[in-house]
Amino acid sequence: MELSLYDSGVFANYKSMSQRVRLLTERWFGSEMYCPNCLNQHLHSEKNNTKVVDFSCANCSHEFQLKGQKTRISGSIVDGAYRPMIERIEANTAPDFFFMQYLPEEWVVKNLFLVPRFFMNTTIIEKRPALSINARRSGWVGCNILFSKLPEEGRIAVIKDGDVIERADVQRKYRALAFLDSKRYNQRGWFADVLYFVRKLDSTVFDLKDMYRFEDELRKLHPENMHAREKIRQQLQILRDRGILRFDGRGRYSLLK
Ligand SMILES: [Zn+2]
Repeated sequence: MELSLYDSGVFANYKSMSQRVRLLTERWFGSEMYCPNCLNQHLHSEKNNTKVVDFSCANCSHEFQLKGQKTRISGSIVDGAYRPMIERIEANTAPDFFFMQYLPEEWVVKNLFLVPRFFMNTTIIEKRPALSINARRSGWVGCNILFSKLPEEGRIAVIKDGDVIERADVQRKYRALAFLDSKRYNQRGWFADVLYFVRKLDSTVFDLKDMYRFEDELRKLHPENMHAREKIRQQLQILRDRGILRFDGRGRYSLLK
């Protein structure tokens, strides 16, 4: 995988920096990136007029969105309109999201990671305040994507600090929890949130009481469900079935991965 974004033609023909960035990242993604689901090397660009670049895989029909920026991507990122994002999540039609950090002087990709579509859920989408009355798009509501609320399984590195991760590793991580694809968005959300809190415990052994401490937070994230404790136990069982946890008896658990 080539990490350079540089293309003299783009620099000669386009003066606007935002256009250059858009073209360079789009061209790079189209020629270098592969499908994380089926490893097909040919991703097709879908033309649109927004800042977001869309691609699709002709082999498995997965859709992708790429967002690039020069600053390091950490806890969250500003994304597009709030309501359409929530609607896509609820309809299970969100794409896989790729986030790139490039170095603007050297024009090379420094970091690239992906959030699989089945980890896109309402917990990680934060509504932004509506644009002020003086703004050109007054009243428009955007969103933030909160990576800080994702379990580590929901953020898969493709390029990490300039190192290219093996394709087979990326695919293995992607597919490990792809069973979530067939679940409804709220079920996927419960799974991701419980896994997030398991990870937050930061201990390889824990018990059910430790997890019940997050009951109130989970209830706030899922106000439609009155049975938070039952849902916690159910997600722990799924984590066991997926080989992430082991039940040690008497409400004790061990984290395996
Ligand atoms: Zn594919």
